Amino acid sequence: MLKGKSAVITGSTSGIGLEYAKVLASEGVNVVINGFGDAGAIEKERAAIEAKGVKALYSPADMTKPDEIAGMIKLAETELGGCDILINNAGIQYVSPVEDFPDEKWNAIIAINLSSAFHTVKHAVPLMRKAGWGRIINTASAHAKVASPDKVAYVAAKHGIAGLTKTIALETAQDNITVNAICPGYVWTPLVEKQIPDTAKARGISEEEVKRDVILAAQPTKQFVTVEQVAALALFLCRDEAASITGALLSVDGGWTA
Ligand code: NAD
Repeated sequence: MLKGKSAVITGSTSGIGLEYAKVLASEGVNVVINGFGDAGAIEKERAAIEAKGVKALYSPADMTKPDEIAGMIKLAETELGGCDILINNAGIQYVSPVEDFPDEKWNAIIAINLSSAFHTVKHAVPLMRKAGWGRIINTASAHAKVASPDKVAYVAAKHGIAGLTKTIALETAQDNITVNAICPGYVWTPLVEKQIPDTAKARGISEEEVKRDVILAAQPTKQFVTVEQVAALALFLCRDEAASITGALLSVDGGWTA
């Protein structure tokens, strides 16, 4: 049922976004991947996705630039025939007490983690209405529901994504389009993995202790969420069985927000 549809996934050159792209491609969905990174590594991932028997395009659009975002959706329209599935996933983090939080970090996080989704949705919804079907999935976070200190921009942006999700769900509710947010707790991605040795050294504790007592302090299962678990939920949201799930903030957080 998903075979032949088209998807745009922002921030899909690594981590959760890359897994979304792989899972959708495995179902026969043509994809536009997006994000930054080493050109050779991105091309390798793109080719591996295309080897699943779908079209896979790469858009280098910067999610801080509305005109580039418009160009990315246009690419899906001209090359893949539309944008049936939109996954807003690009995101960055910065950690600092508010009084020292740099203005440029605030602006970048709000632009990438929140405003980019406004711009993608604005251009994708008309294509979904034309196709008579659509799925919008926003990678939010447990931080769309609860806060942590020193993450003012990230928590504000993720709470904002929750509001955007609900609003667009209402605007598209009668158009065979669903709009949902996935709210992961800590997910095992290269981003998280890379922080562990330094944190262990800085605190004088073992890497296992960093995982359990520092990173997973708020996650009752004491297990990282996996990218496969997050992508499996996204895939379900794309299926016909999920047609009545819209405007929902779905936790995949090992009990964090319970
Ligand atoms: P990641 O760093 O592996 O992936 C982020 C992606 O966004 C990369 O492809 C990167 O190139 C891209 N990106 C960054 N800035 C960009 C820009 N200006 N324009 C275009 N692309 C840009 O991180 P991840 O952990 O896979 O995170 C993906 C999403 O999941 C983010 O929105 C993040 O907030 C959210 N999330 C992650 C976790 C976690 O524990 N890893 C938990 C909850 C939510």
